[in-house]
Amino acid sequence: MEHDTIAAISTPMGEGAIAIVRLSGDEAIKIADQLYRGKKKALKEVDSHTINYGHLIDPETNEVAEEVMVSVMKAPHTFTKEDIVEINCHGGLVSVNRVLQLVLRAGGRLAEPGEFTKRAFLNGRIDLSQAEAVIDLIRAKTDRAMNVALNQMEGRLSKLISTLRQELLETVAHVEVNIDYPEYDAEEMTHDLLLNKMKDVHHHIERILTTAKQGKILREGLSTVIVGRPNVGKSSLLNSLVHENKAIVTDVPGTTRDVIEEYVNVRGVPLRLVDTAGIRETEDIVERIGVERSRKVLKEADLILLVLNYSDELTHEDEQLFEAVKGMDVIVIVNKTDLPEKIDMDRVKEIAQEHPVVTTSLLKEEGVDQLEESISQLFFRGSLEAQDMTYVSNSRHIALLEQSKSTLEDAVSAIESGLPVDMAQIDITRTWELLGEIIGDTVSESLIDQLFSQFCLGK
Ligand code: GDP
Ligand code: ZN
Repeated sequence: MEHDTIAAISTPMGEGAIAIVRLSGDEAIKIADQLYRGKKKALKEVDSHTINYGHLIDPETNEVAEEVMVSVMKAPHTFTKEDIVEINCHGGLVSVNRVLQLVLRAGGRLAEPGEFTKRAFLNGRIDLSQAEAVIDLIRAKTDRAMNVALNQMEGRLSKLISTLRQELLETVAHVEVNIDYPEYDAEEMTHDLLLNKMKDVHHHIERILTTAKQGKILREGLSTVIVGRPNVGKSSLLNSLVHENKAIVTDVPGTTRDVIEEYVNVRGVPLRLVDTAGIRETEDIVERIGVERSRKVLKEADLILLVLNYSDELTHEDEQLFEAVKGMDVIVIVNKTDLPEKIDMDRVKEIAQEHPVVTTSLLKEEGVDQLEESISQLFFRGSLEAQDMTYVSNSRHIALLEQSKSTLEDAVSAIESGLPVDMAQIDITRTWELLGEIIGDTVSESLIDQLFSQFCLGK
């Protein structure tokens, strides 16, 4: 294992009051000591987990470069399980960069993105699903998404997965004892017993997977499309959603799509408003991107906001829109209530069926609260409110869970069709391996490199 000492600025760039340069590795304390001048001791003599006031000296000029507080944390009780030194200096790009330069000249190596977390993983401090949670945490768009990431980072998913793997391992071991030592008086692993165990694990995997949709939405946003005839108020709706709620800046790379997106946070639900450009520029999503493509956009949406005009009769076109979004999550918005009623509201409620109907006057900024309430109810009506749920939101984890589930199903059907018990063993072992990939027990080095390269610098 490499223990060369890495260093990076670990606070966000900008105007913060305090900025931190973090070092991790065998030489972290030695490097810091070349620069640090405190009241009494050198850093190598201070107790672990202490904060020490002093100054940094530029060794080339012997001049004081910076006033600092230096935290010293000695291995192994640190995030990376290596010696860690954190140099807190006054904020500002210039001073924090100067400190980093001093550290690099004194023998530190600039950390790659995610390298601190990668070391924590490689040194066995956290597992892979926890490391991935750090990425999610950095990118979390709402508090709820952040909670999900935090739970995962605390290792909730890992514990669940480990328990299931243990169960599988014991079952396989049991089968082997039965086969290899038939005279040994162990409880016999009968078909029924084995079946029950497999079905139990299968059930647990299914349960974890049911949280995947909501976890994914929290992580990626509820993909939302606004539809309606020209002039009903689609752009006005978009603008009011964007202006009333903090728009979320997304820095997810590789979003080279021809559909423009905007994020807003509606009462903890991240909405990803799809094709906002289509609404803004040409008014007509169908006209702009074609019937086929817009069908696809609709089909991929998690939520449809269907806008009608309160002051106009319901048209054939309106009814066609209802037809197009059949079976999806739809909120019907009847806009322009400040104008005389011309729409038949009874008819609207009839074709809206079970979908919520909200009336608004976007011009007078009325009804937007009720709309937001409908959105949050629609989203949270499921199991999401149960605080103790463990959500999977990471698509790598979901894919592995899906594969585990189907491999287990193979095992179950092998046993059910009367094949010898040890035939199922291959599938059970495979399931154990697949689950192991979630927590990083059985993953390849290239995957690890790829995962960690997604990090921000300094994490
Ligand atoms: P879009 O074509 O569906 O995007 O509709 P717009 O949002 O561009 O709105 C069309 C016109 O209706 C604009 O002149 C808006 O100012 C107006 N409008 C939007 N909402 C309301 C409303 O609640 N009441 C009234 N009276 N006019 C509105
Ligand atoms: Zn418009």
